Amino acid sequence: MMGGERIVVAVDGPAGSGKSSVSREAARRLGLRYIDSGAIYRAVTHFLLGHLGTLEKGESYAGHLDGLEIAQRFDPDGSVQTFVNGTDVSRAIRDELIARNIGTVSDDPGVRNFVNGLLRSWSRRESLIMDGRDIGTVVFPDAAVKIFLDASAEVRSLRRAAEYREMGKTVDVNEIRNQIIRRDQEDIARPFGRLAKALGSFYIDTSSMEKEEVIKRIIELIAEAGGPRVVDGRPG
Ligand code: C5P
Repeated sequence: MMGGERIVVAVDGPAGSGKSSVSREAARRLGLRYIDSGAIYRAVTHFLLGHLGTLEKGESYAGHLDGLEIAQRFDPDGSVQTFVNGTDVSRAIRDELIARNIGTVSDDPGVRNFVNGLLRSWSRRESLIMDGRDIGTVVFPDAAVKIFLDASAEVRSLRRAAEYREMGKTVDVNEIRNQIIRRDQEDIARPFGRLAKALGSFYIDTSSMEKEEVIKRIIELIAEAGGPRVVDGRPG
């Protein structure tokens, strides 16, 4: 790849694999835009719940997306904000109600088409690092770099528990482990856009890696593919 060309880096992996925090940090260091595709599914869920009140498994919701505008901002400091029709929903989309309904929304092929179109439209404007479940398989099968980040369910549960403790939440590790296992099943069993390792992707098992090691590895893979590099701590 020649310098100056747009580049897409696709990072997929199961819940709790750390993909969003390492992707965000790699993007920050490289001066690339980061997109959290999970937050987009959460934002669609938020919008649909706001309009319809309740959602039913197996229902098709694509016809209810008229008038929905989703935007996501990535600040140079590494923070991400997600907007639904101009309103910042970044906190609201982390609510338990969203978590309970998101499986219904992200199983819907019409919704997936809508989200995929949005994600692809953003890639036409600038280079980006995007994380999710089907970014390297469905959304950008031709991405310059495809990464599958993994870790054992045990390690992912402990990491999530530590994150929650840091936020001051009370933590039940068994409950977190059960949630992680349930989400793995949902992600793998989904008929469209299921979590799978993309052809040609780099598999990184982070179970016994430090976060910094994972970030460095991703930055290295991007440089090897001809993407931007970090020069003296600055994007080069
Ligand atoms: O990444 P995060 O956990 O926030 O994703 C929220 C939900 O959106 C997950 O349940 C996941 O199954 C779904 N998702 C998806 N496809 C993506 C990203 C997320 O179906 N590309």
